Amino acid sequence: MPQPIQKLPDHLINQIAAGEVIERPASVVKELLENSIDATASEVFIDLERGGIQRIAVRDNGAGIDQAQLQTALTRHATSKIRSLADLQNIHSLGFRGEALPSIASVARLSLSSNTQHSNQGWRLTGEGGSEADCVKPAAHQKGTTVEVHDLFYNTPARRKFLRTEKTEYTHSEQVVKRLALAHFHLAITLRHNQKTVFTLPACQNIEDKVHRLEKIIGRPFVEHSIYVERDHQGMRLHGWIAAPAFSRSQTDMQYQYVNHRHIRDKTFGHAIRLAYQDVLYHGRQPAYVLFLETDPGEVDVNAHPAKHEVRFHNSRSIHDFIRQAVRQAVSDVRPAAIGSKNLQKLSSFAGSASSGSAANYIRPAGAGGQTHFNTQAPKTHQHVEALYSAAIAEPQADYLSSPSAATGNAQDDTPLLGYALAQLHGIYILAQNKQGLILVDMHAAHERIVYEQLKSTHSADPLERQQLLAPLQVAVSESEANLVDQYQATFSRFGFEIDRLGEQAVIVRAVANIFKEMDIAALIRDVLADLQKNTHSTRLQDSHHAVLSSIACHGSIRANRQLTLHEMNALLRAMEKTPRSNQCNHGRPTWVELSIADLDRLFLRGR
Ligand code: ADP
Ligand code: MG
Repeated sequence: MPQPIQKLPDHLINQIAAGEVIERPASVVKELLENSIDATASEVFIDLERGGIQRIAVRDNGAGIDQAQLQTALTRHATSKIRSLADLQNIHSLGFRGEALPSIASVARLSLSSNTQHSNQGWRLTGEGGSEADCVKPAAHQKGTTVEVHDLFYNTPARRKFLRTEKTEYTHSEQVVKRLALAHFHLAITLRHNQKTVFTLPACQNIEDKVHRLEKIIGRPFVEHSIYVERDHQGMRLHGWIAAPAFSRSQTDMQYQYVNHRHIRDKTFGHAIRLAYQDVLYHGRQPAYVLFLETDPGEVDVNAHPAKHEVRFHNSRSIHDFIRQAVRQAVSDVRPAAIGSKNLQKLSSFAGSASSGSAANYIRPAGAGGQTHFNTQAPKTHQHVEALYSAAIAEPQADYLSSPSAATGNAQDDTPLLGYALAQLHGIYILAQNKQGLILVDMHAAHERIVYEQLKSTHSADPLERQQLLAPLQVAVSESEANLVDQYQATFSRFGFEIDRLGEQAVIVRAVANIFKEMDIAALIRDVLADLQKNTHSTRLQDSHHAVLSSIACHGSIRANRQLTLHEMNALLRAMEKTPRSNQCNHGRPTWVELSIADLDRLFLRGR
């Protein structure tokens, strides 16, 4: 005899839902804060005890809940945020599932106090694990809502066992608060733990306030090395901060992705940014960014995950392309010429302000800085007039090449951003003077980038030269991969491949681009097909192509210990100002740094 099929009691249903939504104290903090934000609060206080395991209280000054609705708020699938399928497909709030409060109440002791604008007093509902014994009583409360949660998982010991130390649990909650704080700048937030205030974030009125909050949350180094990005395209908007490639990380820990003010983890989003940075980061390094994507809510399915950590894009391809292009453009604008104040409005602006401290801080845009009083005589120029420049920097403009400031020691207003060369140091660095102070350029790194960008732009215009293989190469692949070869014929041929399907599970390569001929062709083809299968997009051919160009650029660039004339040095500086991505070499190292007079004064303790 089979067991009878029975409907589960509500309380158990809620506990099952809690299994998905409430994993740890941080999940409670997230749900409660999201409710406060949805209630249009302008201020929240979050108070945690013992990592939030003992107590979590979130108080807000939002719209509040009517006395008669307190009980309903704790009912499963009860929400004020949507009413119909149409609403579900066009979500403007953070919550909409009507699950959080009943789930929390089923695995903890919860009390809900609230007061609305229309009521002349507050009300409080207490219940143990969401039981029938809930009761509503008058209670003092300002306009807004307080939710208090005690003894999380007291009645679900299996869950409680999975909790980590109080410190770890606290850290998770702090992360949640910080992530939300970045997406809701208008909200003033106070976080307390064990009766101590951890931080207070005032509401942000302007961009300076936002940068200040950013600094408090992610730290000063990020702020000092990041630019503000803002781009619109066909109803999509991407804005936020991206760090200069030289400020990369070994972890993905400084990557904040938001879609319509919701923090998410999304493969499309992350992949697009990785591609945007691929050409300027050391292998295996991770970019740092805080980026907000805004798009029509109808284009995003937010009902993809019970805890709402993921979303689905209806048109992920166009989102991917938009993000990749927007970030790529912004990254390539990080070069001396774009950092000057006149170019800032539309594209980007350095978030950093006057700084002091480590040497890394000196990598910064021209812009701020005092009166120039740099008094070095230009040293004797070296007499080597060898034709050492490749075509890359061979067309210098005559008027750029005279360097009045180096001769007179007095920088003029029309000084170029990287200034005029003064000398070469140990055959490695170029010293130059600009309006702010001293510029140091790693001449090999800089030249390498310039040559590389030139090669790329010439090569992307023409199809690659191809070479027939003496013996055609047969590569075993899966059937679906073989299908892809048919589908992506055009791409392969653009990169010089003559490749055809050979039966169900093999392809045959008859010709390759010259530039790839030293590579392991079979491996390259397999990798490309695997990428295409996974992402419907592969940049591997492009990458390999670029890797080859990069290597040519590296070997073709000025080596250390070549003596340059001032004329040649100036030509290099001017070329840098014109070249995209010229703030880093092909390996992601910075190509130049600036020491302003103020920085130098600090080094010499002047003016103290
Ligand atoms: P959801 O947020 O998905 O609607 P919840 O279970 O989190 O579901 O909350 C249920 C309802 O309780 C919400 O729809 C909202 O109307 C109300 N509510 C919860 N928290 C607050 C709050 N801090 N301020 C005002 N109303 C709230
Ligand atoms: Mg909610």
